[in-house]
Amino acid sequence: MLEALRGEVVRCAQEAEAQGLCRWRSGNFSARDKATGLVCMTPSGVNRRLMIAEDIVVMDLDGRVAEAANGRKPSSEALMHLAAYEVRPDICAIAHTHSPFALVFAALERPIPGLVLEAAHLHCEGGSVPVAPFAPQGTQELADSVRAPLRMGDAMLLARHGALAVGTSLDDALLKAAYVEELAEVACRAAAISGGMMPAPLPPEAFVLRYPDKIK
Ligand code: 13P
Ligand code: ZN
Repeated sequence: MLEALRGEVVRCAQEAEAQGLCRWRSGNFSARDKATGLVCMTPSGVNRRLMIAEDIVVMDLDGRVAEAANGRKPSSEALMHLAAYEVRPDICAIAHTHSPFALVFAALERPIPGLVLEAAHLHCEGGSVPVAPFAPQGTQELADSVRAPLRMGDAMLLARHGALAVGTSLDDALLKAAYVEELAEVACRAAAISGGMMPAPLPPEAFVLRYPDKIK
């Protein structure tokens, strides 16, 4: 069932690992099949380097597992993924990462300020990547905590935990996860060479993407 999409989820998870966006057993990924509404999700606690398409768990939006080979269990953050798809019917993919500089902001429970134009790609209201209050891993409380931030943008932080990026495809979600990390790294380094002072973020109007009228 949904072999091609399951393969894509594995490719995306391994690409995220190769890019340093998640390491060891942290992070999880999913994609929603538009035709059936079924979600293909990485299994819990499986080494991404060894992951194959058959390891990917297929479930419906109510959390009922439709296919799980070799006794695989869906990610412990399945409720969080399902909550994200519920509040954002426009998205088809989710990347939950624990990328190192984003984790610094998550540890501080501080939003990542939009210091540079990359922030425009995340469509976050006001330009900064928001942070949801802490909730324990795998809980309904954590799942519910992503609803409000995802109504206002395509990326967010989970306090003391990691980052979440959503997109219209796996590549789109992965790209946003990479931008979250880049923004966090820029902010950390900018503050470090400014004696700990964080530069002011760009004003929200700076993030509106424009295309020059003269170029057709
Ligand atoms: P899973 O392996 O269960 O997906 O957990 C990883 C994680 O990042 C939990 O937040
Ligand atoms: Zn996590």
